[in-house]
Amino acid sequence: MDLQQLLDDICAGAASHYGQGRVADYIPALASVAPAQFGIAIHTLEGDLYSSGQAQKRFSIQSISKAFSLTMAIHRHGDELWQRVGKEPSGTAFNSLVQLEFEKGIPRNPFINAGALVVADSLCSRLSAPVHAMLETVRLMAGTASITIDRKVADSEYEHRYRNAAMANLMKSFGNFENEVDRVLRAYFSYCALSMNCVELARAFSFLAADGRCPQSGRQWLTKRQTQQLNALLLTSGLYDAAGDFAYRVGMPGKSGVGGGIMAVVPGRFTVCVWAPELNEYGNSVVGLWALEELSKALDLSLF
Ligand code: GLU
Repeated sequence: MDLQQLLDDICAGAASHYGQGRVADYIPALASVAPAQFGIAIHTLEGDLYSSGQAQKRFSIQSISKAFSLTMAIHRHGDELWQRVGKEPSGTAFNSLVQLEFEKGIPRNPFINAGALVVADSLCSRLSAPVHAMLETVRLMAGTASITIDRKVADSEYEHRYRNAAMANLMKSFGNFENEVDRVLRAYFSYCALSMNCVELARAFSFLAADGRCPQSGRQWLTKRQTQQLNALLLTSGLYDAAGDFAYRVGMPGKSGVGGGIMAVVPGRFTVCVWAPELNEYGNSVVGLWALEELSKALDLSLF
């Protein structure tokens, strides 16, 4: 099948799915994003790029950054991290506090906010400049030096930090937080505020389809085993409280963000990123999910 034609067809069909969700509105910087937009990009292990729609338009990657920060933490600290964060799907919203109380400050997985805060905390413990280190890593992974953090988004997140601050403080009360809460929140919000496009995200995550090794630079970000483990976690917990639905409809490891992006991995073949800002009730891109389902059906991509 002609991959470019397929992406163009999906892009042409996207518009008929607009209007079924709502753009994230918990901070003004995200609420002002125009809803009717769509981009898709595929980066193959051979280095071929296919894209359609607004694949070059940067957006706020939000929770997709949790896959970057986890990679950095595993790359640097190995298995130690798993004493502080679990590997199970949460079954509750990404910003839920309830489980933390029941499970004594150990978040269920690294992709809910509490888990990503622990990951950010562990990076803050070991890096003197955790935000700079993240930016440099993501630029290297994407092969693009112009990637930046949108300070307006990061500052706005910080102004509305109370729920994330509550989680961090609760974990600190259980002894599962090493640094000053504010320092970690600043780093975490900066990660969420990375501004990237579909092409850059598809390229940056290509190591997840290639046993941990960037097909372009040859850099080994994770071991083969760690890559399998990270993909397993993305499959079981990468789509908030709707990871089961994503596995059912799409059948790939993936990570979404409330900026409307979703990246997904087809091990051994390619990574794909879609972006469409309107979200469903779980915080996942409505049109992005539809597009990935179409892609998965057309190319028979489900791992199952
Ligand atoms: N910055 C958001 C928060 O911490 C992340 C939202 C997301 O993409 O899940 O609430």
